[in-house]
Parts: sequence; C-alpha cells; structure tokens
Amino acid sequence: MYKESAPALRARLLANENPYGPSKKVVSAITDAVSLGNRYAHSDAAYLIDMIAEKEGVTKDHIMLGPGSTDLLEKTAIVRFLEGGNIVSADPSYMSLINTSRGIGATWKPIPLKSDFSHDLEGMAKSVDDETKLVYICNPNNPTGSITEAAKLKSFCESVSKKTPIFVDEAYLEFMDDAENNTMVGLVAEGHDVIIARTFSKIHGMAGLRIGYIVAQPERIESITSMVRSTMGLSVTSLRGAIVSKSEEKFLAECKSLNKECRDYVYTELISMGYNVIPSSTSFMIFPIEMEGDKFLKGMFAEGVGVRAYNFLDKPWCRVSMGTMPEMEIFLEAFKKVTV
Ligand code: PLP
Repeated sequence: MYKESAPALRARLLANENPYGPSKKVVSAITDAVSLGNRYAHSDAAYLIDMIAEKEGVTKDHIMLGPGSTDLLEKTAIVRFLEGGNIVSADPSYMSLINTSRGIGATWKPIPLKSDFSHDLEGMAKSVDDETKLVYICNPNNPTGSITEAAKLKSFCESVSKKTPIFVDEAYLEFMDDAENNTMVGLVAEGHDVIIARTFSKIHGMAGLRIGYIVAQPERIESITSMVRSTMGLSVTSLRGAIVSKSEEKFLAECKSLNKECRDYVYTELISMGYNVIPSSTSFMIFPIEMEGDKFLKGMFAEGVGVRAYNFLDKPWCRVSMGTMPEMEIFLEAFKKVTV
C-alpha cells in the first residue's frame, strides 16, 4: 500500500494550489470516468477544445491542450528554440519556459521589473532583436503577484508581435478583479501572433489532475503539433473533470472570493507587522524578509508550514500561497515564531 513519505504539513502554502478544489461535481465526473480508462480519450479532448474555442471566440485550430500548462510552455520553448535565438522576459518571473529555452541553447535576455513590479514593456520592446524567437510575459506575474496594465500590455503585444511571437501566461488571470478586461486572448481572434496559456491547476483546483491549454494562431499550433501530439498526454479523467469544471461558475466564484478574503487578511496582518508586501492579484503574495532564505524555510517546515523563499533585488523574500483561513492563521503564528 502506498504511503506518503514526506511529513504532512499543517499548512501547505508553497505551490499556489487551490485548497478548495476540485469541485464536488468534478470529483463525481472523474469517478464516473475511471471505468472508461481502457479507451483513448480523443472525443473528450475534441469536446473540450470546442468548448474552449467557443468561449474564446476562435476556431478549434487555435487551441492546443496539454497535461498542465507546463507541458505547453515547454513544448513551445522546444519548438521555438531548436535553432537557437534569444528569449526576452521580465526578471523575476516564472522560469519554466525560460529554463527549457536555455536548456536547448537559447540566450535569456532578462529585463528587470519596474519599481511598481509591473513589466518594463519599453525595455522589453527595445531588447527584441533579429534573434528574438519569443517574448514571455506572465500576467499576473509569478513570483511577484503583480500586474501589468492591460491597455499598455495590449498595445505592446500589437506592435511587438509583428516582429516575434508573444507568449502571455495567464495562469492566475481568474483571481484578478477584472479578469475579462485583463486577458490578452482577444488579440488571437484579431489575428495577432500572441500565444495565451491557461491552466486548470489554479482557480479550478485541479493541479494534480494535469490539464491546461494554449490559444494561438493556427500556424503556431501546427508548428508544435507537427512534432508532438496535442492530446496524447491527457487522461479521460482529467478531460472529463475539465469539461465539467468549465461550467462550475458558482464554485469558481466562491474560490475567488475565499482567496481574496485570505489575501486581504494576510496582507493587512503583514503590513501591520511592518512588512513591505507587494499587492497581489493572485493566489499568493510575496514580501522581503530579514532572514536568510534556507534558514527561514527550515524554521517554517519545522512548524509544519510549507512556503517558498526567493532571492531578488539583493534580498530574501517569502512567497506564501493562499490556503484556507485556518491555514493562514497557522502561517502567521509560525511566521511570528520563526522570525523573532
Ligand atoms: N504558469 C505559471 C505562472 C505558474 O505559476 C504555474 C504553476 O505554478 C504554471 C504556469 C504551471 O502550471 P500547470 O503546469 O500546473 O498548469
């Protein structure tokens, strides 16, 4: 019988997971789908692709599914950088696509975030040259939780995508106050060379089920799927779960509101303790700490609390994911103990 070897945490706040998901309806759909596991799930994949295409106002040849958006970040990187080139992104940002690009020989051109932790779009545009094969934008950004203004990002995408494709990672979009007006997905329907990544791992609470998608121009999708298959990495269980979760509006709204409640509570507490927390539009937040990262993490783990430590701007930072309210209380209690 399988037994988890790692000690159970009292508060697991290190991977930006959703503590409330998957929804009950999703769990039931997945349970029902298990017995279909002897068959490939091509028709379920086709159904989900149609659902996504309709929602995003594009035809189905604009959509590619993958086992989590990580898979699609990596596949895009592999296809774009097979023959070298450079990638432009913010620093700090989410490193998955950048690491894969560098791993196969691309050069990374990091552009520091601005003092308000938004993307330095002017700096990024200037650094694009003939060798730039992709620009990566994570909005809202991980690990900072900060956003880049939609109107500015839109005009950046419209102009810079004429030179090179822009990959916009929207993993945390649904946690934003005004998600509909912050997504760049409309640019795809308008014909711009923009690739939008979305995941079921965050607001849908399906991180362990592995499913995500990209929306892009058909030629971009084709250049990836000519080398690797779109749906072969997906199980009938994750597909059926995602199909149901897409319509779980009430559950998704509840997750968003519970996340915000925790975010407001932790933010206010940390600010009152004198920490310089970056305002977050996501399911996590980050702030500088006075203690070396490894020592801090060790202390927190000893208290049964998992968080992440980062180093940028010459200082250590703590990134904490939003869990349930009792977990956030445990986090604050442990944090006070460890940092005295
Ligand atoms: N993009 C961002 C910005 C993330 O923070 C994450 C996960 O934390 C991912 C992509 C990958 O998520 P998944 O592969 O679970 O879809």
